[in-house]
Amino acid sequence: MRGEARTVVWFQAAGCTGCSVSLMNAAYPDIKNLLLDEIVPGKGIALVFHATLMGPTGRPALEVLEKIPAEEAGEYVLVVEGAIPTAAGGRYGTVGEVPMRERAAELARGALAVLAFGTCASYGGIPSGAPNPTGAVGVGELLRREGIEVPVVNVPGCPPHPRWFVETVVILLARGLPGPEDMDDAGRLKSVYSGLIHEHCPRRPDFDVARFAPYFGERGCLYELGCKGPFTDAACPEHAWNGGVNWCIRAGHPCIGCVEPDFPDSFSPFFRKLSLEEEKATYRGAR
Ligand code: SF4
Ligand code: SF4
Repeated sequence: MRGEARTVVWFQAAGCTGCSVSLMNAAYPDIKNLLLDEIVPGKGIALVFHATLMGPTGRPALEVLEKIPAEEAGEYVLVVEGAIPTAAGGRYGTVGEVPMRERAAELARGALAVLAFGTCASYGGIPSGAPNPTGAVGVGELLRREGIEVPVVNVPGCPPHPRWFVETVVILLARGLPGPEDMDDAGRLKSVYSGLIHEHCPRRPDFDVARFAPYFGERGCLYELGCKGPFTDAACPEHAWNGGVNWCIRAGHPCIGCVEPDFPDSFSPFFRKLSLEEEKATYRGAR
């Protein structure tokens, strides 16, 4: 490498680190190419903070977080992984004894853009499931509450496919920030999130002739076993995980709607078909 490198700060809040693990499994490009090589001609990224990947710990590591907003104001991209706990003054989650809420707001204030990677960072996800005792919210909601007007791009998924991160970064580096025409009403890239799983599912022919699997492991559509593919927009059938090897439905597991803003509350119980009333409440219409 390389030409110009856009500084990236990766801030981990209330999550399981699964989104980072997903990114580390990126295949084309792989994580080494992503971090060290040009991603578009003449441009790449410089990942200066990532608690799981970096060598430094303790005070030297925290100093990177604390200096960046002033030293590179308006120049760096902040990636947030995990939800932000806001209840009880934010005491449910701290980084270096400072509430995640304060750290995330401070970093976002100085950023060029925020990329919310994963459903927790995008909308609150699993940590915000009812009754949500920690007051967990997505980073977009935190910014709204704090009056911070930095653009946010949501890249949801539990975890998101690594390709969805790469696609967002390619757009950022090649064209700049995605415009409103590129985004759906949930703040996601339309190029990744604008087709229902149900429309591209290999089990759709079974659905169309009402051949429903009675048990896991049986042939047929998984709708009666709780599949939420008819209410979920994502490119999972096209991209698949582990280098395109497999994905939920091909592996025999119903889609649980993990990329959607109302996940998990409106999509659970995961293994029960929704009632008609629940389906009407969950379906957000064509996007
Ligand atoms: S398995 Fe799910 S996504 Fe696939 S056809 Fe059946 S209901 Fe639709
Ligand atoms: S198929 Fe459904 S549950 Fe599986 S990753 Fe895609 S959106 Fe999430």
